[in-house]
Amino acid sequence: MLDIANIETFYGETQALFGSSLRVGEGEVVSLLGPNGAGKTTTLRSILGLTPPRRGQIAFDGRDITNTQTHKIAHMGISWVPDDRRIFPALSVARNLGLGIKKTRFRSWDIDEMFGIFSALEYLMERDCENLSGGEMQMVAISRALLGSPGLVLLDEPSQGLAPKIVQDVMKTVTRLKNEGIAVLIVEQNALAALEVSDRAYVMDRGRIVHEGPAKDLLDNDALRRRLIGM
Ligand code: ATP
Repeated sequence: MLDIANIETFYGETQALFGSSLRVGEGEVVSLLGPNGAGKTTTLRSILGLTPPRRGQIAFDGRDITNTQTHKIAHMGISWVPDDRRIFPALSVARNLGLGIKKTRFRSWDIDEMFGIFSALEYLMERDCENLSGGEMQMVAISRALLGSPGLVLLDEPSQGLAPKIVQDVMKTVTRLKNEGIAVLIVEQNALAALEVSDRAYVMDRGRIVHEGPAKDLLDNDALRRRLIGM
C-alpha cells in the first residue's frame, strides 16, 4: 500500500531524514516510534508532499507520489490526522466533517457509519468545535479522515493530551479500521498503546530507522524495548 524507499528530507539546508525506508501493507497497522526530533513527523510530511524528499521514492497504491501535490495525494486515498487535529474551531462539528468528504477508489463512509463508530458524535454535530474536549476533537479528526475514503490513514500522536480511557478508545478504532481493510501508520510517543494494536513497528533515531520488526517483539522483549524506546 505504501512503500518508502531511501528518502532524504531537508528543512532548508538541515537534513532531517537520512535514507529512511518503510512499508505498510494493505490493511496493516504499523507504528513509527522514537524520541523527540527523531524524524517521525517529517516522515509523515514527506508522504503527504508537505515537505517532499530531496532523494528517494514514495509509492502509494502502486503509483509514485514522491513529488505529488498534497491535495492530489488526499484524493488518491491517504488521510491524515495531524497531532494538532487541525479542526476549524469557529465551525460546527458538522461543517468540519463536511470539509473532509472525498471520493477515492477505496470504500467510502457516510456520516451514519461515523455515528456507529463514535456514538457521542451524533449529539455533537451542531456544536462549535472550540467547545469540544480533547477526546471529542480527536473523534472529529478521525471521522473527518474516514469521510475522505482512505486506503491509508496517517495518525500523528493520536494519544497526545488524552486521558488513558480515551486513548484505549482511539486504539480500538484503529483495530476497527484494520478490520475494514484500511492500512494505518501511527506515529506515537505512547509506544505501548500503539504497539498493542500494531502488526509491525519501526523505531527511528536522529533521522534514521534503527529497528524494524513485528510489534510483538517489542512488546514481549522488555530489554529490547527499553534500549530502543526507553520504556
Ligand atoms: P516529535 O515527536 O518531537 O514531533 P519527531 O520524531 O516527529 O519528533 P521531527 O519533528 O520530524 O521529529 O523532527 C526531525 C528533525 O527535523 C529535528 O531535528 C527537528 O529539529 C527538525 N525539524 C522539524 N521541523 C523543522 C522545521 N520546520 N525547520 C527546521 N527543522 C525542523
